[in-house]
Amino acid sequence: MKKHNYSAGPCILPQEVFEKSAQAVLNFNNSGLSILEISHRSKDFVAVMDEARALVLELLGLEGKGYQALFLQGGASLEFLMVPNNLMKVNGKAAYLDTGTWANNAIKEAKLFGETLIVASSKEENYSHIPKEFTIPVDADYFHCTSNNTIFGTQMKSFPKTNVPVVCDMSSDIFSRSLDFSQFDLIYAGAQKNMGAAGTTLVVVKEEILGKSGRAIPSILDYEKHIKAESMYNTPAVFAVYTCLLTLQWLKNQGGIPTIEKINEAKAALLYNEIDRNPLFIGTANVEDRSNMNATFLLVNPEHQETFDKMWKEAGISGLPGHRSVGGYRASMYNALPLESVQVLVDVMKKLEEVIIN
Ligand code: PLP
Repeated sequence: MKKHNYSAGPCILPQEVFEKSAQAVLNFNNSGLSILEISHRSKDFVAVMDEARALVLELLGLEGKGYQALFLQGGASLEFLMVPNNLMKVNGKAAYLDTGTWANNAIKEAKLFGETLIVASSKEENYSHIPKEFTIPVDADYFHCTSNNTIFGTQMKSFPKTNVPVVCDMSSDIFSRSLDFSQFDLIYAGAQKNMGAAGTTLVVVKEEILGKSGRAIPSILDYEKHIKAESMYNTPAVFAVYTCLLTLQWLKNQGGIPTIEKINEAKAALLYNEIDRNPLFIGTANVEDRSNMNATFLLVNPEHQETFDKMWKEAGISGLPGHRSVGGYRASMYNALPLESVQVLVDVMKKLEEVIIN
């Protein structure tokens, strides 16, 4: 039986991505070779990379607007330091919004490069909300935020208007909702949630913000070098990039971001309605900041955990426990998770209520 996979990442991908990528491992494009054994410079793989980069810009509505899409390595965690390395001027400063563990990790890396101002933080409230009131200094080299806080289940619903370049870690909600993506100057996201297999990181950058830091940047960390090499500065994560292409093609065939956004909203509404209705459960994030990707919740009475865990496992659900640092439950509802899987979880929650209360 196929599981209802609520993992936070790596996570569920569309079934056709599993099937097509498995086929490519055996016999890529009917070449008699596996995608794992061809040169990344071969015509067939260069076509994969080119199409994936173009589809990213198309789906985000950024074609012809001065942006470049790159598939790099090192995870979103390497971007935590590539961003300041490329954008923070010598003796300059950067502004960061602290909304969770990953934002905090980005801040730690930025501090290695220079003055790193935390414009607001919800750390004292266990990152249960997104701070709304803050000022970004006009002389900051950039402002960094995390659109979706995977661990705490909060999501930014709007972004500040500012004249400084805006950098956003979209690892856990990229391609999940319609936004004016041109309000960002640099977006990065690990592939392993809404895009593909772990091993590559998407970076979408507006070229005009580069080359101004005055820093010596090691080649492998230099966005300009990656752009010049058309995302082939060194051997790319061939298989991971291929899975991204397949997922992006799937998304386009679904109708792109606007279509998937509606489905994501329906899934989130179904689950949050049950969390709010069912007296046995409580959500952990402030209602207005709730993430449509990662819903975090607790059992009001922890004594029900054993029964609940047994029930959802028996229903074929996997990956529901919260992040090891916070506990509780986290239902990650990425693009490929069907509405039916959310219904299965909601039915289990209702059943628990019947068992416990009636
Ligand atoms: N940023 C966010 C929002 C994440 O959710 C994660 C991982 O879950 C990361 C960064 C780190 O990504 P990676 O493991 O690709 O370095």
